[in-house]
Amino acid sequence: MSQSASAPTKAVSTAPLNTVITGSTSGIGLGVATAFAAEGWNVMLNGFGDADEIEKTRAGLEAEHGVKVRYHGADMTRPEEIRNLINETEAAFGQVDVLVNNAGIQHVSPIEEFPEDKWDAIMAINLSSAFHTTKAAFAGMKKRGYGRIINIASAHGLVASPYKAAYVAAKHGILGLTKTVALEGAEHGVTCNAICPGYVKTPLVEKQIPDTAKARGMTEDEVVKTVILDAQPTKQFVTVEQIGAMAVFLCADAAAQITGAAHQIDGGWVAH
Ligand code: NAD
Repeated sequence: MSQSASAPTKAVSTAPLNTVITGSTSGIGLGVATAFAAEGWNVMLNGFGDADEIEKTRAGLEAEHGVKVRYHGADMTRPEEIRNLINETEAAFGQVDVLVNNAGIQHVSPIEEFPEDKWDAIMAINLSSAFHTTKAAFAGMKKRGYGRIINIASAHGLVASPYKAAYVAAKHGILGLTKTVALEGAEHGVTCNAICPGYVKTPLVEKQIPDTAKARGMTEDEVVKTVILDAQPTKQFVTVEQIGAMAVFLCADAAAQITGAAHQIDGGWVAH
């Protein structure tokens, strides 16, 4: 992969990139996987879900875009399975060029009632898993002089909301990891960036509407209008396609000097 300053903006590679995206059976991860496949890049899918549905998604991406798409069911709470995800991706595609740490869960609850097991699970999936994947993939990227690590953080990596103690803490934490990895990769052609989406209508957001309604004593409709989209000045949900397009751009030679940064795609949320 050339890092030359004269490379055209869109040119990413002559050879297809080999990518792994955690939590890509649904929502944003699947949006990023689809964008990568559309670029002609090989994709390792990961995440939970119905086996038949996952196979349909995998085969569909492969057939539509003529790329290799594989699936690995590593649980992001289990470091040995995470290492195996990276090893298996290397075995399937030869190497990992792009790693997107996307898997994430949410739990909404006042701090005094926040369940300890939910805190631990959110820390493991939303933060520690990115440490384990990065640790496993980093040496190869460094050796080859090209790597792109993209952490899907959140507007909640930059600002807080009540009742989301673990999520906000984990997302702030992943921005710290992003900066550290960026510094360690800086002289080796390896960039590390975070994307900080505002609200994207995915199963993760849909699931928290009833909990937020309960925590705030509101109807679900009121939560969407006055809590979720109230935070977003554009009053529109971000789309998974918009996040996929940013992830593709961050892999380009044009983005070689963009590292250690938090890229907001949040309809202006953290601007106020
Ligand atoms: P989603 O629920 O649609 O998808 C989450 C994915 O993670 C799924 O593929 C799921 O199977 C996988 N996953 C969950 N637990 C896992 C585990 N233990 N091991 C492996 N995979 C696991 O959610 P989403 O909204 O697409 O969220 C994706 C990421 O984007 C998360 O990190 C989330 O915090 C972040 N994000 C989402 C929004 C939003 O509004 N939806 C906003 C900002 C940030």
